[in-house]
Amino acid sequence: MATESLSRLRELALGCGFTYTGELWTDTIRVRPEVRDTCATGKCNSYGKNWSCPPACGSLEECEQRIRRYRGGLILQTSGALEDSLDYEGMTQISANHAKYMRAFQETLMALYPAPETDALPPYLLLGAGACKNCEQCSYPDSPCCFPNRMFVSMEAMGMVVSDVCTANNLPYYYGPNTLTYVGCVLL
Ligand code: SF4
Repeated sequence: MATESLSRLRELALGCGFTYTGELWTDTIRVRPEVRDTCATGKCNSYGKNWSCPPACGSLEECEQRIRRYRGGLILQTSGALEDSLDYEGMTQISANHAKYMRAFQETLMALYPAPETDALPPYLLLGAGACKNCEQCSYPDSPCCFPNRMFVSMEAMGMVVSDVCTANNLPYYYGPNTLTYVGCVLL
């Protein structure tokens, strides 16, 4: 993608509310089985319960193939301050903000890059943080995903260590004591 287009996309992302953005190059991304192993422990209570999470989101190999179809894109961060390390209300608020900005950016992308009518390469891959929460109750496994074009797969579900992706692309992940940062990305 041309640098000029990436700059414009960055402006649009910041306009959606993200705190920080940075260029992301696909060749810096490593997918790691350890991340999937952590998913499988059920730590976040979404493994095997959501179409966006393992195992439904595909094998690690399939996820890597999807990633490698794109050259690069943007890292999207929502960062905020907490009163202290037990400020759960603050954490929930930052998480809700990130989800809101991701949805707004998804709308922007959908307007900019209409979905292909054929099986051609989807124009972008938008990855979020945590399991998809578009529906009050995910339809997995009883019926197909209700909104496949709007489903959010997380960077972790794709096997990425989020902090490593940021570091490899020269964007901070940690913004100091009592801050919290949620991360998503888009590949084009
Ligand atoms: S869009 Fe709904 S059904 Fe599809 S993965 Fe997200 S929560 Fe589940």
